[in-house]
Amino acid sequence: MKTVKNNRTKGQGRSVDPVGENIPMSSPDITDLEREAVAKVMQTSRLSMGPEVAAFEDAVSRYVGVEHAIAVSSGTAGLHLSVLATGITDGDWVITTPFSFVASTNVLLYERAIPIFVDVDPDTGNINTDLMAEAAADLIAGGKKASRWLPRKGAEPSGRLRALLPVDVFGQPADYDPIQAISAEHNLGVIEDSCEALGAQYKGCQTGTLGDIGVFAFYPNKQITTAEGAMVVTDRDDSAELIRALRNQGRAPGDLWLDHTHLGYNYRLDEMSAALGRVQMSRLDELLEKRERVAAWYHARLAEMPGVELLQISPSTSRMSWFVYVVRLDDGVDRKRVVERLDAQGVPTRPYFTPIHLQRYMAERFGYQPGDYPVTEDLSRRSLALPFSGTLSEVQVERVCDCLLQALES
Ligand SMILES: *Cc1c(COP(=O)(O)O)cnc(C)c1O
Repeated sequence: MKTVKNNRTKGQGRSVDPVGENIPMSSPDITDLEREAVAKVMQTSRLSMGPEVAAFEDAVSRYVGVEHAIAVSSGTAGLHLSVLATGITDGDWVITTPFSFVASTNVLLYERAIPIFVDVDPDTGNINTDLMAEAAADLIAGGKKASRWLPRKGAEPSGRLRALLPVDVFGQPADYDPIQAISAEHNLGVIEDSCEALGAQYKGCQTGTLGDIGVFAFYPNKQITTAEGAMVVTDRDDSAELIRALRNQGRAPGDLWLDHTHLGYNYRLDEMSAALGRVQMSRLDELLEKRERVAAWYHARLAEMPGVELLQISPSTSRMSWFVYVVRLDDGVDRKRVVERLDAQGVPTRPYFTPIHLQRYMAERFGYQPGDYPVTEDLSRRSLALPFSGTLSEVQVERVCDCLLQALES
């Protein structure tokens, strides 16, 4: 193992790990700037609903180029409010992807809507828009045509198609030209789950702006963090007003503290989290560049490695915003064994994702079975997320790749 000096990470309050031991699965990138901003809030009496939330919202709306940014307590909360603002309700059908984190589907179930899954593109893991177009046309037509796309049970054939909910998987935008065309043709709302893709661009356009409403999430493994928290973005005034009200216990503009126009929620973000997020936003380009550099180190070592296949970057992705680094093991490689061997070397990994339709509560409720979404299931069986964050050193990446090679060879 060769050791290199890693000057780049000096002076940021992080311990440098020259031989690449103790590799974390992911790691937030926090400096004294963030620590000072949070400490400063704690010296005031405004711990919620103060100037930091407004400043953080302003920073995100300027970066993304949208009219409205609304800070909320989690990505799940942001998606739930987006579902409400889109008018999705009991029995409505929403086309979405089974290859995602469960939250993108759960928020539909909260409002008793029916997720209609279509399979994904094998190269990117993003929703297959040819299937989406076919499903939308059939669901609008109704009858026998529609029932082909419905789950085996748990969905009334009398439902109606209301919206599309694509996910920008692993920091790569879904294919929005066809999604926007399908939305326009059938008058469907589009909620963009961009919880993994702050800063990514589709044909030069920022993610979050590619549907009617977009959501970014800030859990500690995401591109920027607020510990827990998220941001809803939209250009629509009516949606923004409703989401602001619902986030704050249903108080409409003009309502007094104990007046409530709507049934709302407490989905507010606190001031400490917002201060953390505001400073992280000011460092976003730096944070994305560091993640890009780590991804490039992986790419250089893994592109030609036998036994693994890399995620494809679509030509429509004008900027990737690296969220995780996922490789696909070749057919016939025993993933469990690879995971155990890497773990024995101190290299953590995660299978990414378990298909949503095969999660127990989903299979029980809708009657899904293995084989229903074969591309998703194949990706899910073969995918492995390697340790990834902007704070990894090149030595650490090298060690992960050396260990992966050994694990594949033996
Ligand atoms: C992280 C994430 C979310 C939101 O998660 P929270 O933990 O609620 O912030 C939603 N969808 C996807 C695809 C995600 O990766």
